[in-house]
Amino acid sequence: MSHAEQLIEIATELAMEVKGEAPTLQRRLAELENRKLEMEARLDAAKFALQRLSSFVSVRGNDLQCPRCWILNEAPANLQPIDGGTKDQAFAKASSVCELDLHPRRQAVVSYQILRSSR
Ligand SMILES: [Zn+2]
Repeated sequence: MSHAEQLIEIATELAMEVKGEAPTLQRRLAELENRKLEMEARLDAAKFALQRLSSFVSVRGNDLQCPRCWILNEAPANLQPIDGGTKDQAFAKASSVCELDLHPRRQAVVSYQILRSSR
């Protein structure tokens, strides 16, 4: 095999090796882009946390409001009590974003969750 032919062979092997990295690199790039978006959202939340706190309304109409959705995303979201047990409630619970426990004055802990965004 001539030198020229060997160089072609080396170039071919190198090209195949580099081409094979594409799926891994694309996956890693997508992960980095997702992390960047998450960090930008957290940075926004950090910048505006106190401003959002000052405009947080804990009750709209008869609905308690989710503090997490408001502080993190400036998104009003109604909280609904969870009493568990039924299939529909289990589904709603699985698809909800936030869940938090409130302590009423004279009762046991009541769990709330977001069933829908009120925006
Ligand atoms: Zn929420």
